[in-house]
Amino acid sequence: MDSRRRVPRTDAVLADPRLTEATLRLGRGTVKSAVAAAQERARRGEITAECVADAAVAALPPHATTLRPVINATGVLLHTNLGRAPLSAAARDAVLAAAGCTDVEYDLATGRRDRRGRGTLEALAEACPAAEAVHVVNNNAAALVLAATALAQGREIVISRGEMVEIGDGFRLPDLLVSTGARLREVGTTNRTTAADYAAALGPDTGFLLKVHPSNFRIEGFTAQASVRELAGLGVPVVVDIGSGLLAAEPSLPEEPDAATVLRDGAALVTASGDKLLGGPQAGLLLGRADLIERLRRHPLARALRVDKLTLAALEATVRGPRTPTAHALHADVRLLRQRAERLAKELTEHDALAVESAARVGGGGAPGVELPSAAVSLPASYTEPLRRAGIIGRIESGRLLLDLRTVPADLADAELARRIERAVAAGEERPCM
Ligand SMILES: *Cc1c(COP(=O)(O)O)cnc(C)c1O
Repeated sequence: MDSRRRVPRTDAVLADPRLTEATLRLGRGTVKSAVAAAQERARRGEITAECVADAAVAALPPHATTLRPVINATGVLLHTNLGRAPLSAAARDAVLAAAGCTDVEYDLATGRRDRRGRGTLEALAEACPAAEAVHVVNNNAAALVLAATALAQGREIVISRGEMVEIGDGFRLPDLLVSTGARLREVGTTNRTTAADYAAALGPDTGFLLKVHPSNFRIEGFTAQASVRELAGLGVPVVVDIGSGLLAAEPSLPEEPDAATVLRDGAALVTASGDKLLGGPQAGLLLGRADLIERLRRHPLARALRVDKLTLAALEATVRGPRTPTAHALHADVRLLRQRAERLAKELTEHDALAVESAARVGGGGAPGVELPSAAVSLPASYTEPLRRAGIIGRIESGRLLLDLRTVPADLADAELARRIERAVAAGEERPCM
């Protein structure tokens, strides 16, 4: 018999209560596509007509976005491909609270317009008293573009040859700066640049002097660089791109610059990311001299770089709220990580799991070369793909798949993680309805 005639009609399948409910949650288009795909499978004879509704339900995405939550078990704390810093529960809650209509630019006491994101700016200023003023843009790249445009368009930015950095995916800071109409005045060499090199390059055309933190590489050996303190004495604004977004010094990462120290050393402006070591949403922070921040804030480009209410909410909750998941991961006690790895390995003995030592890293977002002692569950390399498809991302080392626990939040109960791993491996094999 022609199997096509037996494939149930779309409206009949959509009448299934599970799909009716899904339409309210995910939208009609998404549900209809899942039904159409299931009908197509039935036409090809891959499933029976009775299974069309089941197959459509099974293929529905969990959320009305193609973005899927994943478990970062790579051991890289800030993984750009996985969305960098995971938000704290407080920040997620703040995002939800601000998601509807909100007083982002409105004063409820007076009924008048208010400064956009006032609470977020105040939180940042309180967290970094060394800054006279604060401005927030879309990301650190935007912060640099705004500073270069407003303070050095048609003029020169003096920068060391050792700090001409590519930040990733082919994006190079020098190109970004030049795109604003500023000229780069390169000084020094790849490995050595002194304060005298900068001083010799200053002139009437100087917009500012820029220092960029080498956040994703390290130069060792015969090296020298001028300190912010030395440069601050040269009489032009010193802008420092610290990268990671630490507002205050982090004792466990002594080489990582922080906004407070750099400003106290005399920097006029600091730029940083919100979603690296600060542990918040994607954002660009500008902290420093009130007159310069005001010029940036008033520049026409500022409007094009401004952040959304969701970002402002998450950023404020990150700064005011409890310790971020990034800070938890950074400070996790390696003995506890080992215990978790051993327990998890025991639960997964049938899967040839072993608890092993591991070395986690901060990632492209900061602290290059720093190894954080960690523990991992080692699984057969053949598990890589089924786990990845289930949103559990590890890393391959010596022919085994490692799930590094430093980047897996402890509040994701490891028993739950074990179940998810087992389900992911089983999913490739079982086919509930044929
Ligand atoms: C990460 C980084 C950037 C880019 O920051 P985004 O927030 O991704 O735009 C710029 N400079 C440095 C030093 C960085 O580490």
